[in-house]
Amino acid sequence: MFESLSRRIREAVDRLRGRGRISEADLRSTLREIRMALLEADVNFEVAKDFIASVQEKALGRQVLESLTPAEQILSLVYEELVALLGGSPVSPTLRAEGNLWFLVGLQGSGKTTQAAKLAAYYRSRGRRPLLVAADTQRPAAREQLRLLAERVGVPILELEDGERPQVTRRRLQEALRQDYRDLVLVDTAGRLQIDEALMEELAALKKELAPTETLLVIDAMMGQEALSVARAFDERVGVSGLILTKLDGDARGGAALSARAVTGKPIYFAGVSEKIEGLEPFYPDRLAQRILGMGDLQTLMERVKAAELEAPERAPTEFTLEDLINQMRQLRKLGGFQEVLGMLPGASRLLPPGVELDERAIARLEAIVLSMTPEERRNPKILNASRRKRIALGSGTSVQEVNRLIKNFDSAKEMFKALSRQRGRRWLGRLGR
Ligand code: GDP
Ligand code: MG
Repeated sequence: MFESLSRRIREAVDRLRGRGRISEADLRSTLREIRMALLEADVNFEVAKDFIASVQEKALGRQVLESLTPAEQILSLVYEELVALLGGSPVSPTLRAEGNLWFLVGLQGSGKTTQAAKLAAYYRSRGRRPLLVAADTQRPAAREQLRLLAERVGVPILELEDGERPQVTRRRLQEALRQDYRDLVLVDTAGRLQIDEALMEELAALKKELAPTETLLVIDAMMGQEALSVARAFDERVGVSGLILTKLDGDARGGAALSARAVTGKPIYFAGVSEKIEGLEPFYPDRLAQRILGMGDLQTLMERVKAAELEAPERAPTEFTLEDLINQMRQLRKLGGFQEVLGMLPGASRLLPPGVELDERAIARLEAIVLSMTPEERRNPKILNASRRKRIALGSGTSVQEVNRLIKNFDSAKEMFKALSRQRGRRWLGRLGR
């Protein structure tokens, strides 16, 4: 997600690089390009307009035109504005010592059931005692889905009956909590394919009875602008206290995700980044903004590297070879959300031709190039003259340009990949990390 937006903003800003002072017309045309990029990424029209107006005002106020580094100045203004758009500082749901009851609401397919299980796992690993509640009173299959997830996570579940009335649910829940004390109740509510009055009434009635301390609207980031009118409808009828954006690992343009905070006025608490139970992360506006602007998300990466136990390379990092590079790429897959992880690495995209995304196929091509080299060539790319390069391109079914690019950018790429090796990686990332 966000690849195309990211590329277009960087292209717009890069055109100003090395230019010295720029004119007001240059500034306007750069901002116009960024506005187009936002709109094409499906950012809400009003949101994009306000965004650009604000950047422009600050640019003029801070005398970017007089600056000798206009590209850097504009990039940092865009960064600040993106962070603000996404909510500024990170916000977590309110969590008291006890008596927390959270509703998960949203359309069918948005990811409520999955996020309920993810939240249970997330908070249990932080010392909480969650209880899951399967509150779809119409679809036994929906309750069954949560039961299976609850079993996998190892968290108890209370399942509602078909057509169960909210008063009954409240009593059953009180009874369940009396028997087995829980400090965080996560209620997976029913969804519909579209907003309908019956759903809203059902939710409102259940909410009145259970009095949740948070009402979390789950929004599918793949859904586009329509997600935002859905969000407004839920807020008006049921009341929403915060958002969870799911499927940020998807390949949608991402504009709805970027607009969600501004359009609803609600904080984004969490981001769903994979189908797996571990695929839930607190939402950090600054990190996402950095990722979109290609600054790399070292903080998140560092945390994942710590969590994922990468194997240390066998040789000393000074001998890091093309073979190691490919091995590290393979290991990166273990971190989950392969493309997303690569997107967090500043410079990883330089291994590929412009416009080609870092997906498994592109990596397979890089791998094919390396596999077509002799062991000696892999250890010592310096010996790769024109005829060797041609042979490798032929052997790997790629082009000489692709081979050249891989070799040319191997040095900068290997720095990053080395950083992912376990022992030294933390120190390296630690130095860079903020
Ligand atoms: P519900 O109808 O709102 O309860 O949605 P589900 O929890 O059943 O999720 C719908 C689909 O989205 C399922 O296939 C999930 O595996 C998938 N899903 C949920 N969250 C994520 C996410 O963060 N990333 C991806 N890629 N898929 C997700
Ligand atoms: Mg569900």
